[in-house]
Amino acid sequence: MNLSSSVVVIGGGPVGAVAALRLAQLGIDVTLLEQHADCPEDMRASTFHPPTLEMMQELGLLDALDADGLRAPVYQYRNRRSGNVIELDMSEIADLTRFPWRLQCEQYKLARLATQALSELPNGRVLFQRRLLSFEQDEKGVSIHVESPLEIEHLRADYLIAADGSSSTVRKWLDVAFSGFTYPERFLTLSTAYPLEECFDNLAKVNYISDADEWCVMLRVPTLWRILVPARGNETDAELLSDARKDSVLQGLTGTQESITTYHRTLYRVHQRVADSFRHGRVLLVGDSAHLNNPLGGFGMNSGIHDAWNLCEKLRRIYQEGADADRELDHYDRQRRNIAMDFVQAQTISNKKAIESPDANGVSEMESHLALMLKDESARRTYLERQAMIQSLRRESEIA
Ligand SMILES: Cc1cc2nc3c(=O)[nH]c(=O)nc-3n(C[C@H](O)[C@H](O)[C@H](O)COP(=O)(O)OP(=O)(O)OC[C@H]3O[C@@H](n4cnc5c(N)ncnc54)[C@H](O)[C@@H]3O)c2cc1C
Repeated sequence: MNLSSSVVVIGGGPVGAVAALRLAQLGIDVTLLEQHADCPEDMRASTFHPPTLEMMQELGLLDALDADGLRAPVYQYRNRRSGNVIELDMSEIADLTRFPWRLQCEQYKLARLATQALSELPNGRVLFQRRLLSFEQDEKGVSIHVESPLEIEHLRADYLIAADGSSSTVRKWLDVAFSGFTYPERFLTLSTAYPLEECFDNLAKVNYISDADEWCVMLRVPTLWRILVPARGNETDAELLSDARKDSVLQGLTGTQESITTYHRTLYRVHQRVADSFRHGRVLLVGDSAHLNNPLGGFGMNSGIHDAWNLCEKLRRIYQEGADADRELDHYDRQRRNIAMDFVQAQTISNKKAIESPDANGVSEMESHLALMLKDESARRTYLERQAMIQSLRRESEIA
């Protein structure tokens, strides 16, 4: 098969699916390629921040996500040793957003809704079971070679958007440096239908629990609790994913002696990395192919969607207003790379340090900081705006 399209997007994760749907809705001809037979049922991201919800509303997906998710206006910081709880309420920034809450909803639900909506548009095309093998670009466009179940297919496009995730084939072909570091510990995630809310007083749907030995994040999605803990030491994968480890994590949290059933147990290696450039001629990196960060704060998918949103607007200007392509695409690179470095990397590194470093008296750095903030409305609003990613988009718009 030989096919041509104005834009080809590689990757049917949340970022690629949003980029492709947005372009199609803006009237641009687009083809989305995903290597799997469907958007993968991924248990990674589950937090949507307010600006992302505003984008979902523009895409026409918000009602479905809202119906399939949980609104979490309040999040808590808990000290695992002392039991001290500090609560932040996003309704304090209700004047800044139509959606003063986090929506707790699994990322694959967004990817599936967006690809379905895309496939219904006359200028949108979704091709599953298409794995990008290679590409080359010239002055006029990009030639793309993909593997389908039956043959090698060739596509031609004006632009290629790489939303092919952390191990991006596109990034590797471009030989772009992916600068940063990888944490020595891995992260273990577990999910369970056990009613954890019955084991704690007034538990919120989003909870950050500080501890020097085993800090923890506890997040509610509609049918499950998701738990994230660090996996340090020399344990093997089999030991970390064993029933014994699962029981030690869950019994430690709940105080019960029951063996609690889990639905997923996954180990992740966690990186803080940013590609040295998000633009290479007609090839643009977005989402995890461009930057990776730890999940404390829920910024990875959200910032990837913000990349996609920014880039789609630049492409709209190029196609529909005759804007200068080099100027627009370089601007995308400057704005989103700057946000990835100065906001997403900085904030997630600081969020991780804060949750894992209690002082000698057992009070975490985060707790002391938040306790001061509770008395200062202006500092609290600034903190809420930053964690809700409102500040990062304001900053993006200021980058020339
Ligand atoms: C434990 C954990 C919790 C997280 N929680 C949050 C959170 O609450 N909020 C948040 O914002 N972020 C969170 N993240 C980060 C978030 O999951 C990622 O940032 C997000 O998945 C990135 O989306 P993406 O579309 O760029 O990449 P991916 O989701 O990785 O999607 C890439 C897609 O490309 C496809 N693909 C890859 N190679 C090819 C190829 N050669 N050809 C065709 N298709 C290809 C893949 O199959 C996949 O479907 C979390 C991460 C982890 C590990």
